[in-house]
Amino acid sequence: MTDVLPPAMAPAYSRRRFVRGLALGAAALGAGAAGALAAELEEATRGGERKLGVALMGLGMYAGGQLGPALRLTKLCRLAGVVTGSRAKGAQWSRRYGFPERNVWDYDDMGGMAGNPDIDIVYVVTPNGLHAEHALMAAAAGKHVICEKPMANSVAECDTMIRACAGAKVLLSIGYRLRFDPHHLELDRLAREKDFGALTRMSGEFSWTFGQRAWRIERSLSGGGPLMDVGIYVIQAACRGAMAQPLAVTARELPKTNPELFNEVEEGIEWTMEFPAGVTCRGLSSYVRGADWFRAEGDKGWIQIDPAYIYGGLRVVTSRGPMDLPAVPQQSLQMDDFASCILTGRPTPVPGSMGRDHMAIIEAIYRSAAEGGRRTEVRRA
Ligand code: NAD
Repeated sequence: MTDVLPPAMAPAYSRRRFVRGLALGAAALGAGAAGALAAELEEATRGGERKLGVALMGLGMYAGGQLGPALRLTKLCRLAGVVTGSRAKGAQWSRRYGFPERNVWDYDDMGGMAGNPDIDIVYVVTPNGLHAEHALMAAAAGKHVICEKPMANSVAECDTMIRACAGAKVLLSIGYRLRFDPHHLELDRLAREKDFGALTRMSGEFSWTFGQRAWRIERSLSGGGPLMDVGIYVIQAACRGAMAQPLAVTARELPKTNPELFNEVEEGIEWTMEFPAGVTCRGLSSYVRGADWFRAEGDKGWIQIDPAYIYGGLRVVTSRGPMDLPAVPQQSLQMDDFASCILTGRPTPVPGSMGRDHMAIIEAIYRSAAEGGRRTEVRRA
């Protein structure tokens, strides 16, 4: 599962493999988006151009296991500081990644970051319920913002974040790393080019076993259970397959096998999304089983990604047979793409508005489940 991938399973990328990955990714996409990205990176790095400085805010599992290492492979940005509740941990990070210890900030005291030219981007990697507050602090310091998924605990918070970033004239993007993975880009291509006809029947599940008392099952910090944590990946894939936002949803919370532990959030949930033109997607997400796949079918064929959402080792099979798509360092590509958006003025493909759209779907799913599975319309922006 994404959040707890053991180090041995995490792909270890060398710089050479990364560059090869970029080239292969570009090849897999033809002369499309990845080709343009590779060309942009080439252009922007020529002559040792300055890299944008990233400050990671929140040094937990994802920052330590994935984003820090990924920032060693980026071409357009580098780790230049951290925001943490532990000065000792910050000092450790400064030694490990070679940035000055003065670039370690406390959550309560980010004031000094505003005038610090080392930091261009703050990457918010704290619990979901703190994303809005932390993104607002970053915007107030005049820094561009990447915010982890889910964007926040509510649509209202997402709207506040979008307004704050626009007001501060900084860019806002969401940590949707799969937007840059060739396996999911193949789903985009099939949706767009309709090799198999329109992808009208979709389904997917992302579940993992999570059994400890931690912020992920405390409503104020998590906003919900597995739907917020990982079900959101199925939602994202479905919106890509449909190339649209769903009109309505129906949902049902699964019976709890451990009601004492999951006393604030759902233990498992299943839902159906209705998109325009009769397109549907059934989704499931749970904290008491493991599953990681997505499938989309058209009248002339199908695509299945399995596993679909982890950091590496994704596989695509279609009705034409298995595909050999390259593994890429998803987080490095995601951060470099955001840096290139800042450098070139190109809009990010994973903007705050996308995070907000997904949050509107999640709110509708929870509303439907709370109202006995009633068909519930998804709020428009
Ligand atoms: P984690 O619990 O390992 O880390 C959370 C960090 O936030 C810790 O450093 C903790 O000290 C800090 N923190 C600050 N204030 C806190 C508070 N009041 N309570 C608890 N912790 C506090 O969590 P994580 O797995 O690193 O997840 C962090 C964020 O990243 C979440 O939003 C999660 O959804 C997201 N995430 C994304 C992916 C991905 O693949 N894109 C993977 C994992 C996590």
